[in-house]
Amino acid sequence: MSTARAFVTRTLLPEALDIIREVADVTVWPEETPPSVEELRRHCGDADGILTTIMDRVDADLLDAAPRLRAISQLAVGLDNVDVAEATRRGIPVGYTPGVLAKSTADLAMALLLGAARRTSESERWLRGGGWQIQFHPTHWLGQDVHEACLGIVGLGQIGREIAKRAGGFDMDIVYHSRTRYPDAEAEHGLRYAEFPDLLAQADFVVLSVPLTPQTHHLISGPQLAMMKPSAILINVSRGPVVDPAALYEALRDGQIARAALDVTSPEPIAVDDPLLTLDNLVITPHIGSAALPTRLNTMKLAARNLVAGLKGEPM
Ligand code: NAP
Repeated sequence: MSTARAFVTRTLLPEALDIIREVADVTVWPEETPPSVEELRRHCGDADGILTTIMDRVDADLLDAAPRLRAISQLAVGLDNVDVAEATRRGIPVGYTPGVLAKSTADLAMALLLGAARRTSESERWLRGGGWQIQFHPTHWLGQDVHEACLGIVGLGQIGREIAKRAGGFDMDIVYHSRTRYPDAEAEHGLRYAEFPDLLAQADFVVLSVPLTPQTHHLISGPQLAMMKPSAILINVSRGPVVDPAALYEALRDGQIARAALDVTSPEPIAVDDPLLTLDNLVITPHIGSAALPTRLNTMKLAARNLVAGLKGEPM
């Protein structure tokens, strides 16, 4: 039997590539930028397995161009770039990397929450710009307390639960809204369930940890922002299109909500002249939720093991 061929759409750490090389001839896309649609189609033409990231569109057209394909391994939790139904219809298993990156993403959600509440980016910019002329002023740089504030978690999956654990350590009062109600988590983390509008009305901080699906696209838009407190802070660590960026810009500009913190944007990367970037009440990071070295290595290894399992016909 000939050796399987694998196409990996982005450079990985060597420990992960070595796992795939044990069973397959591996081609790694060498560029910083992702392969174009044509390049992806060309490289998938003779591939038995592919390892993809969120930037690679895996749809019926690509699958048509990949007649040998028998395993797709996605290096991410979200699968919104992969037509899983179409792959399944063709009998091609799709693997992904749940679990390993929830804690790091929850850590970043807390960093964004704390940073937005206490205005760390904003005050640092002011300091670096020479604004700090008076040692201490009792009314300067007043932010919001995190302890004892109400946190609303939207999407109580792996990341949502990790956020709840961390928020408990900050003595936050936690409500959640999710597709499914989880009495076990309510008991374990002291959470209260709320319908979505009630959560928006109560929460001092609203954190989004849902997947991007047709149901969650623009889950936060004008009407939802209008339900939030004027003092509220919105944190998005899910996917950019879960928030309507134009509506968020208007809400932040007009003081309809106090602040927002985004790890994900729509589109990605956000244009440097995007109006959101003119706002001081926005904290923003470039989709770095899981970008901690041990976590990223574990995620790459899991995706590599998934690909190997798929190539061997084992569960991914
Ligand atoms: P997960 O374990 O699948 O949790 C998602 C939760 O959202 C589940 O509890 C799900 O409900 C709930 N949900 C789904 N649709 C909903 C809806 N329409 N309304 C309310 N709740 C809904 O996923 P996860 O590991 O926590 O990750 C969540 C998302 O975060 C991923 O899909 C990915 O897009 C994003 N993410 C971002 C980063 C980053 O770097 N910023 C890193 C990792 C992941 P059920 O319990 O009923 O399924």
